[in-house]
Amino acid sequence: MLLEVRDLHVEFRTRDGVAKAVNGVNYAVDAGETLAVLGESGSGKSVTAQAVMGILDMPPGRITSGEILFQGKDLLKLKEEERRKIRGAEMAMIFQDALSSLNPVLSVGDQLGEMFTVHRGMSRKDARAKAVELMDRVRIPAAKERVKQYPHQFSGGMRQRIMIAMALALEPALIIADEPTTALDVTVQAQVMDLLAELQREYNMGLILITHDLGVVADVADRIAVMYAGRIVESAPVHDIYKAPAHPYTRGLLDSIPRLDQKGQELYAIKGLPPNLMRIPSGCAFHPRCPMAQDVCRTDEPPLYDVSEERGSACHFWRECLHG
Ligand code: SF4
Ligand code: MG
Repeated sequence: MLLEVRDLHVEFRTRDGVAKAVNGVNYAVDAGETLAVLGESGSGKSVTAQAVMGILDMPPGRITSGEILFQGKDLLKLKEEERRKIRGAEMAMIFQDALSSLNPVLSVGDQLGEMFTVHRGMSRKDARAKAVELMDRVRIPAAKERVKQYPHQFSGGMRQRIMIAMALALEPALIIADEPTTALDVTVQAQVMDLLAELQREYNMGLILITHDLGVVADVADRIAVMYAGRIVESAPVHDIYKAPAHPYTRGLLDSIPRLDQKGQELYAIKGLPPNLMRIPSGCAFHPRCPMAQDVCRTDEPPLYDVSEERGSACHFWRECLHG
């Protein structure tokens, strides 16, 4: 297995108390595989990814327990210097907002080239040639000319392609993309997502795709892990989830995807708000919002039940949900 997160717990200490952002997350991704991690903001999906990358704001963030095995090594046991070497070269991250991730006063060629001069000791001339090659790979037209331009001279979609090129530069084994297309309009979203999926296959990378939008992952993900209040509430092969969700929260997310054949109709929205992580509800954390909640849900926290060999659901009533 390329990456395995085991029973990870992360807390944030604030003036008002301790926010339990990640509460026992387990997930794994192999080379050539795409795992989509899904959930509303505050579900812990980005915090888990930041813990994997080693870029958690510490303090106030603190990993209180767990293991993060990357190519068999527990990253949490490595020195910061060793982690820095892994970051960029062996795992890379793509963020939602390319404009604030790119340096505004350096041409994109210089920024891409730096990956090769700094990490690979290449000459500036060779690094520039590599930059053009990468821009071609992510299908930026007229790469030879545009390599001299600055980030603000590119459209949002093109900038996101540059971010992908940066992430790919050193051919990492794992890429984590956190809402990579959220800032783009729908057509461009699909193009960027297709490109990412294509490159992932070609380079046989592991890809973790973090999103709040179940609509964008259907064609690219192999597995989906749905997070709520810092826990995984459903984990399954992508097709199983679309066929029939085994958790009411997943069902709510599915029902809130806009569909072409329902144009004009009001979109379903899960009622209520995600919980305050300083006061996570007792029992099943989703119970205040769940249309299927029973008394037991308020008192007993559901474990991740085995729905099948490759599927789990943290709902006492997963059978009813699956068949309902
Ligand atoms: Fe809803 Fe109960 Fe299942 Fe939680 S355990 S998702 S509250 S039915
Ligand atoms: Mg986020």
